Amino acid sequence: MQFRMAVFYASWKVDQVGEEACRQEIAALKIATPRVIHSIVNRAIQVHGGFGLTDQMPLVQQLMTGMVLGLADGPTEVHQVNLARTVLKGYEAVEGLWPSQAEENVVEKLKKKYAGIVDEIPYVPTTLPAPAVQV
Ligand SMILES: Cc1cc2nc3c(=O)[nH]c(=O)nc-3n(C[C@H](O)[C@H](O)[C@H](O)COP(=O)(O)OP(=O)(O)OC[C@H]3O[C@@H](n4cnc5c(N)ncnc54)[C@H](O)[C@@H]3O)c2cc1C
Repeated sequence: MQFRMAVFYASWKVDQVGEEACRQEIAALKIATPRVIHSIVNRAIQVHGGFGLTDQMPLVQQLMTGMVLGLADGPTEVHQVNLARTVLKGYEAVEGLWPSQAEENVVEKLKKKYAGIVDEIPYVPTTLPAPAVQV
């Protein structure tokens, strides 16, 4: 149902704003489709036991269909890289080691909480440790 709704949503959005503006939704579906097929067919094979693997049943062929879909229209890996690229374009990396929310919610809260007890929080790293030097 989750996958079906994602397909409906992408189709609806394509109708509203066109394909170009729906690259993320389309890429996400291209990534998800082979996985959904694999998951469904694999469970169907399990239900049928060894019989599910014979040529009396279409399941092995359907398993291959899922794998073909994960390559024929571009490898899943490539869709993942492209999707990640377009998603990350909307974000900017923060300075320092901690995610911005952690910095605000954890580090600052700790500082406030313990300010009266200690001058400095003993170990709240703010930079990545230097790589170990190999001699
Ligand atoms: C049944 C079938 C039908 C096809 N039909 C068509 C068709 O109609 N039209 C058409 O143009 N092509 C078609 N193809 C070709 C298909 O697009 C290519 O197989 C696919 O793009 C992968 O190229 P490749 O097989 O040369 O693998 P390679 O380019 O050698 O890639 C191997 C693997 O390396 C990884 N990889 C490669 N490049 C990247 C990257 N940039 N980022 C991250 N990972 C990467 C992926 O995991 C990939 O699976 C079809 C393929 C099959 C199997």
